[in-house]
Amino acid sequence: MAFLEISHLQKSFGTNRVVRDFNLDIEKGEFVSFLGPSGCGKTTVLRMVAGFEVPTSGSIRIDGQDIVNLKPNQRNIGMVFQAYALFPNMTVAQNVAFGLRVSRKSKAEIDATVTEMLDLIRLGHLRDRYPYQLSGGQQQRVALARALATKPQVLLLDEPLSALDAKIRVSLREEIRAIQQKLGITTIFVTHDQEEALSISDRIVVMSEGHAEQIGTPFDIYNRPASRFVASFVGTLNLLEGKVDDAQKGVIDLDGNRITLAQPLSGHKKGETLALALRPEAVTIDPHKAHDTAIEGTINDVHFLGSVIRTRVSLGKNNISLDMFNNPGSPPPARGEKVKISFAAKDLLVL
Ligand code: ADP
Ligand code: MG
Repeated sequence: MAFLEISHLQKSFGTNRVVRDFNLDIEKGEFVSFLGPSGCGKTTVLRMVAGFEVPTSGSIRIDGQDIVNLKPNQRNIGMVFQAYALFPNMTVAQNVAFGLRVSRKSKAEIDATVTEMLDLIRLGHLRDRYPYQLSGGQQQRVALARALATKPQVLLLDEPLSALDAKIRVSLREEIRAIQQKLGITTIFVTHDQEEALSISDRIVVMSEGHAEQIGTPFDIYNRPASRFVASFVGTLNLLEGKVDDAQKGVIDLDGNRITLAQPLSGHKKGETLALALRPEAVTIDPHKAHDTAIEGTINDVHFLGSVIRTRVSLGKNNISLDMFNNPGSPPPARGEKVKISFAAKDLLVL
């Protein structure tokens, strides 16, 4: 039995089926991200776990107990929202103390917990400030401290970083992950940002149209996408079109180049069009690192991104983006330059 079990969860608003047969088991202490495009139902699932929304059907169990019929305040859950939801007329310390006051803890206990929580988010020196006197990142740390103060069984974070600047977003996500690990608290983190999900999760649930499209570790989700949707939503992907040349031997034609895949193309016919995918980092134009495949192409775009140079090579009909590392000793490639690209046949995914 998993610590948090969501089974056959459904939610409709009128005729709009927003969550469809959503199933997920989360182990105690796990950090799981919901990743998916806007409108796919991430917030709705979270709100059902928190008790702000009643499921149309299905069950949600924490530690074996079905909580679907419990009110939000009867559930032992902490939540942080995207927009700063601090009480504007309360100080930092009062905000953090809020849930403890509601549950009528003693003053001594409240004071001790507030101090402990403010130490955890390293904002003890700002305890008497008001929210408007804090930066966005500080406000979200206070929101986190407030959510954790009641020692919830489960922590729910709904895009807590999306209103922040890129730099703060990265440092705060690392801080959230460190705090989560320190406390060992079971956490669901909602995001539409794949890099965020990949970098801090134990597992990721890729969501599409109200259901879990794939559930797996960041490594699996990225390297073994179970569907075309996952492959194109997570990471940058070259989507290519080839033709079957010899199905039994797994040979395809990619803009006039014959490439032998790692597996035969069972169920495909010669001449059939194939959708293929290739990650930019699987491709190299380093002539000394030739893989099984070396194909001639022409550079038609160069983006200097700093440490990485994203280069696009045209093979004819297909374009392949690839990443080169910046080398301070040599200038980036130029448009129009003819190059040989190579990649391992096993990295070419048939979708
Ligand atoms: P996400 O968080 O993934 O962006 P949401 O869960 O917020 O998605 O929304 C999923 C869908 O449910 C959207 O189409 C949204 O318009 C709809 N929806 C959410 N809440 C309500 C509601 N209270 N009433 C009607 N429709 C809603
Ligand atoms: Mg949302």
